[in-house]
Amino acid sequence: MTDEKVLVLIKPDAMARKLFGIIIYDLAHLDLKMIGLKLVNVQKHLAEKHYEVHREKPFYPDLLKYIMGEFHNIHSIIAIAYQGEDAIKKLREYAGKTNPDDADPSTLRGKYGKVNSKTNNFDNVMHISDSPENGEKEISIWFSKEEIIE
Ligand code: GDP
Ligand code: MG
Repeated sequence: MTDEKVLVLIKPDAMARKLFGIIIYDLAHLDLKMIGLKLVNVQKHLAEKHYEVHREKPFYPDLLKYIMGEFHNIHSIIAIAYQGEDAIKKLREYAGKTNPDDADPSTLRGKYGKVNSKTNNFDNVMHISDSPENGEKEISIWFSKEEIIE
């Protein structure tokens, strides 16, 4: 068991479909502490910084468009920082597999995600950091120190 910090993003497809209420409600039951929360109008430099590890991937240009809301005509997404025991495992299990077509129907992405037939984008509802190191790093990208309340 480790105490971890994790960045969660409620992505533009989820904002467009008004899923933020359900997601925040569900996450409240994972026994984690919310240490940051805000609406963000994602600019290109932030999108590029967040997805830097994927910059060589063929889907990278579309990934930037997706997180900036260009595919869903959305100008704000929700960023949340959580802290707690096994936070990454709990949150990633809740979200399900990256490709919505592979995600178990009991998971968020299985229930609400889709491979968008018009854009080929994985409309996969939320982002969750994948390691404690990346959790710390991503929170520092999305939040200032003053915005984190531990
Ligand atoms: P995650 O940690 O489960 O979000 O997945 P990754 O870190 O591997 O990928 C980051 C994001 O890139 C995913 O959430 C998707 O939005 C997108 N992505 C990953 N793989 C693919 C792919 O094969 N095709 C497309 N279109 N998008 C992908
Ligand atoms: Mg990832």
